[in-house]
Amino acid sequence: MNFCRIYCHKSLDIGDGVMLKKSLVFSLIIILIFFLSSMYLSKQIVDDIPVIKATEGEDHNFAIYTGDGDIIYTQSIDEIKRSLLNNVVVKAGSFVTSNPIGIIENSPKERITDIKNLVLKSLDKENKVLIIYIDGLGYELYEKAIYQGNVPYIASLNRGIRALTVYPPITNVAFAAMVTGETPKYTGIQSRDKKPLLAPTIFDAASKKGKTSKIIEGNIRILTSDVETILNIDENNDGTIDDEIYRSALEELKNPPHILLVHFHSYDDMGHRYGPSSKEALEQLKVLDLYIEDITKNFIGDIIITSDHGMHDEEGGGSHGNFLPMDLFIPIILENHK
Ligand SMILES: [Zn+2]
Ligand SMILES: [Zn+2]
Repeated sequence: MNFCRIYCHKSLDIGDGVMLKKSLVFSLIIILIFFLSSMYLSKQIVDDIPVIKATEGEDHNFAIYTGDGDIIYTQSIDEIKRSLLNNVVVKAGSFVTSNPIGIIENSPKERITDIKNLVLKSLDKENKVLIIYIDGLGYELYEKAIYQGNVPYIASLNRGIRALTVYPPITNVAFAAMVTGETPKYTGIQSRDKKPLLAPTIFDAASKKGKTSKIIEGNIRILTSDVETILNIDENNDGTIDDEIYRSALEELKNPPHILLVHFHSYDDMGHRYGPSSKEALEQLKVLDLYIEDITKNFIGDIIITSDHGMHDEEGGGSHGNFLPMDLFIPIILENHK
């Protein structure tokens, strides 16, 4: 009551005209604050989403990694701004997306999802396909290993195409994209959680054409797929399963299926432990180079040597899963053995 008495008394004293002017000034101040803060926010945007500037692209373009797991290519971006609800909005022509993971400028045109079509084309030509999947080998490290002489056999093959992998750049997410030709938005695999694949695989497509497929894997299946998978364990206890995987692959090559996918893990393991460009990790690539030489020597058909993601250095080792060029760029090497 006391408050009301003072307040009402005052407002009666000032009068209605003054009150109106005051509220007008007040509204103008609010509008000004709103206008200035939106200007400030839109200036902040560039720092808000990571933009990787790749150097080699022939065409100027952008690859937008959307928040729902897709990758959209565009020639230009019209606008990046922050909305009133604090979302980062990217507009490119009629395409609009909110809160993308990041943007790659001058992006490679090839992607991990192109592998499916490469395989299907080979099958249509009645060629068998051997996919050698070196876990964790990013494009930069592939180049470094060639330059340093760690992988003389791989260096003697066709030069690898620099391609994009999906986000997050982790094994099951990228493996799902590799074998389905779809981005995580459509594979249903967007994290380390074990979920059913929502898109058909190259193995499903091969089976429809009456062709056979096999995966040679470590001690666990990474994807929930019907494809026949040969699991391996570290029988000789030397700390890696890749020697067993190598021997399984040689065994399979005596009578290979139409698609054989061999998944090597040891480079990724050593990369995590010592760092992707460590002496230990690069020495392991030397071992894989010998395995790959032996395996491919015994194979007639199309060969794809690739990876799921790269890796970056971290305190005391290596890691991946970030929106970084070291994690997102992978090699795709294409060969044909007659
Ligand atoms: Zn991996
Ligand atoms: Zn890893």
